[in-house]
Amino acid sequence: MRKILYFIGLGTLIFSCTPQKNVKKSNYSPKTTSIQPKTVAKTPQAQEKPKPQITNDRGVEFFTTNIADPAKNDNTVSYGSIVSAKPAGYKVVKTYFPALAQNFRQKYLILHYTALPDDKSITVLTQQAVSAHYLVNNTGDNEIYQLVDENKRSYHAGVSSWRSDKNLNDTSIGIEIVNAGYTPDSAGKKIFVTFSYEQMKKVAALAKDIINRYQIPATNVLAHSDIAPTRKQDPGPLFPWKKLYDEYQIGMWYDEAAKQSYYDLAMADFATKYNEASFIFNIQTQLQKFGYGLDLSGKWDDATKKTIEAFQYHFRPQNYDGIMDAETWAILQALNQKYPAK
Ligand SMILES: [Zn+2]
Repeated sequence: MRKILYFIGLGTLIFSCTPQKNVKKSNYSPKTTSIQPKTVAKTPQAQEKPKPQITNDRGVEFFTTNIADPAKNDNTVSYGSIVSAKPAGYKVVKTYFPALAQNFRQKYLILHYTALPDDKSITVLTQQAVSAHYLVNNTGDNEIYQLVDENKRSYHAGVSSWRSDKNLNDTSIGIEIVNAGYTPDSAGKKIFVTFSYEQMKKVAALAKDIINRYQIPATNVLAHSDIAPTRKQDPGPLFPWKKLYDEYQIGMWYDEAAKQSYYDLAMADFATKYNEASFIFNIQTQLQKFGYGLDLSGKWDDATKKTIEAFQYHFRPQNYDGIMDAETWAILQALNQKYPAK
């Protein structure tokens, strides 16, 4: 009986944005005499909406059904563990008043390589000042190591930004992949190391699971180099972004026909206006619109070059010299057309 919900008039007066509130009658005690509670029987709406079910797995409680309303907000499908206070002498109840207005903190999935072998990757990511939620080894077994609870921040992104978000450690899940990274050749070109087929399959399965549970949009599945292009190269141009998109529907990729039409347009006058400030400004604007944190200088400055290089790692890996060319420019425009900022 004590868990039966009643409507009261008070909620209408206090919460103008939520015209009806379910309040537990037995706990209600009005603070003023001018507003009198009006109790009515349970409404059909209240009867139809089941309370979220909770299971307990080794001392950790989990919601097993949606708490929130997916139609109201982004990222409102709420499964997962419940962390609650345990105030001395009081009982925290979780199922009476689950709020519609909630979402996941986990908005991004960021992929990295460790630039270290397996054993050193584990040591650095567990014993030092950096970490990630998951570590994908390169031993060919079927294990994926979890280093940090998904509800907690891990220290993988550092100073970072994407679109209007900054400091992406706050809002992301980080996956580190064991890979040697790059070594510069005699001409200074960065030579990267391939990812094994087993690693790619592990990353795909893990990413798919995380993306599905948190409803992470394709535009928020990114490389470390995307969110920190002046500092980072990982996971580099040999990371199989296109394969993940084609075979697992993970992340972004452009449509070939759109790229071709932008390419034809670009070729008409690309070389003649290449060094015009207005053209560089336009390219920087498109990079910024896509998501990169970049100042609009109207010059081919170092930050712009590194941002182009990061873009090429992800979307035009055949040539990652950091120089904007007609194909890179066409791909950028095709992506902005396909994934417009909201
Ligand atoms: Zn990284």
